[in-house]
Amino acid sequence: MNVTAKWTTRLIFLLLLGLVAAGIKIFGNKLNDESGKPPAGYVFDDFVMGTVLNVKVRGVDEETARRAATAAIEEIKRLHRVFDPHDPKSEISRVNELAGSGGTLAVSRDMAVVTEAATRIREASGRSFDPALGQLIDLWGISDENPRTVPPDSARVAALADSITTAGRVRYIADGDSLVLPPGCGRLDMGGIAKGYAVDRAIKILDSLGIGNALISLGGQIGVLGVGSNGTSWRVGIQHPRLVSRHLGVINQVEGWSVATSGDYERYFEYGGRRYHHILDPAIGFPARQGNVTSVTIITGSGLEADALATAVFVLGPEAGIRFLEEFGAQGLVVFRPGSDSLALDYWATPGFLRIMKPDLDGIPIL
Ligand code: ADP
Ligand code: MG
Repeated sequence: MNVTAKWTTRLIFLLLLGLVAAGIKIFGNKLNDESGKPPAGYVFDDFVMGTVLNVKVRGVDEETARRAATAAIEEIKRLHRVFDPHDPKSEISRVNELAGSGGTLAVSRDMAVVTEAATRIREASGRSFDPALGQLIDLWGISDENPRTVPPDSARVAALADSITTAGRVRYIADGDSLVLPPGCGRLDMGGIAKGYAVDRAIKILDSLGIGNALISLGGQIGVLGVGSNGTSWRVGIQHPRLVSRHLGVINQVEGWSVATSGDYERYFEYGGRRYHHILDPAIGFPARQGNVTSVTIITGSGLEADALATAVFVLGPEAGIRFLEEFGAQGLVVFRPGSDSLALDYWATPGFLRIMKPDLDGIPIL
């Protein structure tokens, strides 16, 4: 299949998925509905922030579950409207009107919390994560409806990557929740962190509505409350980066843990035998290639941090990435190809991660 056909197929698939998701949302869906027993819970699906959203709620009646899930889904949609760089009316677009102007701008609590974490993780990770890559992300057409099939001109990529200087970095000021956008500051794009924040917020909403057992999954981002059907944890499969219908393993995710996965299989095109994916190395402006990483999974207490850390570690590569996670105090797994032409996979992980899950690189079928 050529690249255009592949993208067309993928687009049709996503559209169908979107329709199915919308249908399920309308009707709701019983979870673990074993014959004779009352349903163990309900699942509500949608399509938000360019990806599939599932909200599972257990231990309450259908109407309570629906009301709570609707509130959680509405919160994620609201945050999409705050952080959507393609919507000229979004808050991030208003911030971006000032990007590079040297101005200071008072922002909402949501923008402040996300920018504070993004700039903190930018500094801690040696700028492997950078929330001001807007122009580069646009040049690569990462979130475009008609994605690229050919890489952009490398001189333009290099010029844009070089234009982002240390002095030009966006800064967050706690006093009054303001952002400083110095000359040279690129446009903000929170695509690598907003989903984590959105899941954290939606979990808080379910909690405040008295829901004791729930799981929210948004793309590769998962947050939970209480326990799943085994009575102790929620069982969460970690997607195999190359075998679509298989897992690398299963995490027994307990309340207070957030899990985030970033992979090179989520959005990419192939050109000249090379995969061009959606996670950019800020230093060079090209998709990250350090250590041939295929996916990163992070487990930590904050979904906001887990999301940004997954992106940062993807850019750092296996060795530096795991060292960084140990310093940061988060658990993680980096799956990579040991050679750039190799189909085989290998992994590095923090010791704490291996106590939670031992990856099976041959893939565990999804039953
Ligand atoms: P996904 O969106 O598939 O969950 P990530 O959380 O890794 O994946 O985020 C990737 C998104 O983050 C890209 O689509 C882009 O918007 C943005 N991005 C890409 N590279 C970086 C980077 N190095 N630092 C910060 N954001 C990035
Ligand atoms: Mg991320």
